[in-house]
Amino acid sequence: MKQIIVAATQNKHKIEEIEAITSEFGMSIISRDEAGVPDVDVVEDGETFEENSYKKAYEIMKLCGKITIADDSGLEVDFLEGAPGVYSARFAGEDGDDRANNEKLVGLIKDVPYEKRTGRFVSVITMVFPDGEKLVARGEVEGHLLLEERGDHGFGYDPLFVPVGYDKTFGEIDPEIKNRISHRANALMKLREMLQREKRRF
Ligand code: IMP
Repeated sequence: MKQIIVAATQNKHKIEEIEAITSEFGMSIISRDEAGVPDVDVVEDGETFEENSYKKAYEIMKLCGKITIADDSGLEVDFLEGAPGVYSARFAGEDGDDRANNEKLVGLIKDVPYEKRTGRFVSVITMVFPDGEKLVARGEVEGHLLLEERGDHGFGYDPLFVPVGYDKTFGEIDPEIKNRISHRANALMKLREMLQREKRRF
C-alpha cells in the first residue's frame, strides 16, 4: 500500500509536479483539504528556502498529524544578486501574480546581455513526520533568462527560463522533461535517496 503524504502547498502546479515526479516513489500525495486541515495561512517569513519549507511542513503536520511534505522554491538571478529568491511569488506585490512578476523581472534585466542573464531555480523539499523528525532536500537547475515569454506550459517564471543544455524555455519544453530535470525533480530525487537509506519508514 502507498504511504499517504499530505502536501502543505496549495499551489496546484506544484502539487501536479510533485505528484508526477513521486508517482513511482510509493507515495500517495493528498491535499490539505483531503487531510482535513483547516484553512490556515502559513506566514512565509523566513530568510531562506529551508526556513520557509520547514515552517510550512511542520505547521501543516501539526494540524493533520500525518507525514507532510512542503516545497519552498524560487528563482535566483545572478545579476540581481540572488533576487527574487524567497520573494519570488510576491516579487511584484503580495497577490502572487505571475505576469506582473515576469514583467518586473524583465524590466530589471533588459539591458543585461544574454550570457550574463544567468540564474537558477531552487526548490527545498522538507518532509516532516508526526514524531517531529524531518528530511530536507535541496534541488537546483541552472539556466538563462529571456526578455520575452515563450510557451504556455508550467507556471511562474517558466516562460522566461531556458535550462542549460536546452534551447527552449520551461514554458515550451514537454512537462515530462521539466519533471525530469527541474529543481523540484532534483530535490525529490534526493529525498527518495534519503527515504531509501531510512528503510524503516516506507
Ligand atoms: P513559494 O510558493 O513561496 O515557494 O513561491 C514559489 C514561487 O517561485 C512561485 O510562485 C514562482 O514564482 C517561483 N517558482 C518556483 N518554482 C517554479 C517553477 O517550477 N517554475 C516557475 N516558477 C517557479
